[in-house]
Amino acid sequence: MKISVIGTGYVGLVTGVCLTEVGHEVTCIDIDEKKVKSMREGISPIYEPGLDEMMKANIERQRLFFTSSYEEGMEGKEVVFIAVGTPQSKDGSADLTYLNKACKSIAQNMKRDLIVVTKSTVPVGTNEHVEQEITKHITNGFKVKVASNPEFLREGSAIYDTFNGDRIVIGAEEEAVLDKVRSIYESFNLPIVSTDLRSAEMIKYASNAFLATKISFINELGNLCEKLGANIENVSAGMGMDQRIGNKFLQAGVGYGGSCFPKDTNALLSIGKSYGHDMPIIQSVIDTNEKQQRIIVDKIKEYSPDLLNKKVAVLGLAFKPNTDDMRDAPSIKVVRELVDAGAEVHAYDPIASENARIFLPGSTVYNSSVDEAIEDADFAVIMTDWKEIKEYELQKFTKLLKNPVLFDGRNCYNLQEVAQYGLSYYSIGRPTVG
Ligand code: NAD
Repeated sequence: MKISVIGTGYVGLVTGVCLTEVGHEVTCIDIDEKKVKSMREGISPIYEPGLDEMMKANIERQRLFFTSSYEEGMEGKEVVFIAVGTPQSKDGSADLTYLNKACKSIAQNMKRDLIVVTKSTVPVGTNEHVEQEITKHITNGFKVKVASNPEFLREGSAIYDTFNGDRIVIGAEEEAVLDKVRSIYESFNLPIVSTDLRSAEMIKYASNAFLATKISFINELGNLCEKLGANIENVSAGMGMDQRIGNKFLQAGVGYGGSCFPKDTNALLSIGKSYGHDMPIIQSVIDTNEKQQRIIVDKIKEYSPDLLNKKVAVLGLAFKPNTDDMRDAPSIKVVRELVDAGAEVHAYDPIASENARIFLPGSTVYNSSVDEAIEDADFAVIMTDWKEIKEYELQKFTKLLKNPVLFDGRNCYNLQEVAQYGLSYYSIGRPTVG
């Protein structure tokens, strides 16, 4: 099928590339000309394992194209996916500015009847608005039908998830539209949930809010475990074996971050508010997470009330491993607080340092290895559980740090192992070592 994808971020680019991999012809449209230029040369503007290779292969097969022109990008296409950002507005609701602009551009460049599929995470009722908004700007009599196809990929394993997801959700009001969108995914061989527009939109928010709830729940219990002398890791293992609970998203840590959970929980709250519907569970999930993102700073300040001129190594900056995405990463708050207290932060992240410069204080020093960051530091703080960081030899902390003190926001190490190396080790929801 001939398809356009609007917006080439983590979702749009991965979707476009994966659709070409199964044989569709896709033109990706983005207003960012710099990105378009680099993608045309086969260089992905985002870090995502396996993406560059798949992108290059499909450019060579002449199935994947990039443009900043809607006219060129929509030429001859029967389905258009929208995957632009829907960031959080000041009041917590989803900001639909990019989406509205995309709708207008679609309408102005329609040369046939179209199906427009929204992949962006949008408030319930938005797809109806998309249909109205496009129809409003159509001047040449063509018709548009809409479908909702929310995205569930995880950054860091986005390609794998696209081909191996648990389900594909498609919402539409007409069987013919559902059929058309289902046919795009035929060769993916994944379970498809076909539903109405509003339920599809709600499935996305409900899923993200539930996962965020699991994280805040386990973090709240972890904080209690610390007071009780219990170990949250053992508690999670015991809970997770119950299949009604499941063992995923039950790891205590410094809270969730990233471009989805924080904004989507806030947007859900805001959707509720606009219908006069209180959501106390979601509100407390958000509040718990905000506190949790600071918890490592509280531990650090308890250990060292005076941080002036202390050299602190921060290991891992991205909001999770295998991505360069820094949006709402817990490391941002932690680094800012350390710098505000007078500390000299030496940071290391295998991939995200370049993006981190946009978010972190200018005084942050970026190192090119864990060794370099921790050498002579007063203590180290782990913020992202990259494989390289999780597998870093414990004895090197003892050898290279000025004081053998490690704060671990991701519970990377086994407590018995840590004890063998004489480290003072503060993690989340587990007894302190040393
Ligand atoms: P992103 O910010 O990485 O990318 C958005 C892209 O859209 C940018 O390249 C931007 O230049 C482009 N754009 C903006 N306005 C445009 C316009 N009018 N025309 C063409 N291009 C335009 O966003 P993302 O992280 O890929 O997220 C996109 C959507 O998918 C959001 O609604 C998000 O909530 C949802 N989502 C994201 C993830 C994720 O892991 N990132 C997962 C599931 C769902």
